[in-house]
Amino acid sequence: MNRTGATVVAVHGAATDAGLRRAVNEDSFLAAAPLYLVADGMGGHQAGEIASAAVIDEFAGLTGRMSLTVDEVHAAFLRARHRVEALPPGAGAGAGTTLTGVVVADIEGEGYWLALNLGDSRTYRLSRGVLEQVSVDHSVVQELIDSGSLDAVSAAQDPRRNVITRAIGAGSDGEPDYWLIPAERGDRMLVCSDGLPGELDADGIREILIAEADPQRAATRLVDEAVRRGGRDNITALVVDALTVRSRSTVSDDHDTTPPSPDADEIDGDTRPRALAAGGS
Ligand code: MN
Repeated sequence: MNRTGATVVAVHGAATDAGLRRAVNEDSFLAAAPLYLVADGMGGHQAGEIASAAVIDEFAGLTGRMSLTVDEVHAAFLRARHRVEALPPGAGAGAGTTLTGVVVADIEGEGYWLALNLGDSRTYRLSRGVLEQVSVDHSVVQELIDSGSLDAVSAAQDPRRNVITRAIGAGSDGEPDYWLIPAERGDRMLVCSDGLPGELDADGIREILIAEADPQRAATRLVDEAVRRGGRDNITALVVDALTVRSRSTVSDDHDTTPPSPDADEIDGDTRPRALAAGGS
């Protein structure tokens, strides 16, 4: 067993397209172990593109590591936010970006997905054929759904569906949500900008993820299908497959049959928000 290498060995595919209505692709992404991130910039006149690229560039400095901790990821987020807020007039000032994705984490020797989200790009997990949205949108529509004043079907048509409540930059001091999810061999994570679910519903996304075994083919087909259905927004899709995952059973010797102690809320199959930093700054 691999005791010193990455806790999660993954292969990935990535695709992006400006779509049919937008002149510029303001999405940026990073797909290099141990980080798989998508940022969807906003601001127009290429400002959004500058903001999303600045955030991705900040995280690119962490590639090549076996795993990252929540603290390391959050520190990179703070640096990224500072960079976006410092963008000069005419080159991104006032722009903002979303950020979502997964980072490979090592929790006491076991492989975890550290998922993060800020805004309305999305991270999904396909596990044993079941597609689950891990991230929770920071959007006006999501707040209306949560309060019971809007149902999910109406939300897809609601004119406020593009209004987000947290971003990096754009005057927001919102913090990302973090989730720690025990990784399993065979997990397929999907990280995408809102241009994908804007064109394909969850069933359509799941169908392609199940039909295309190769992650690059899956990513390409997801984006192609979203363009074919209208491509009203920029579309980015990363598909990340866990080939091997180090778990307690593969780390410990055969005679050690002690089950993992359910220490804290980190060891839990359920995904849920994990409060990291209290309040904004
Ligand atoms: Mn978008």
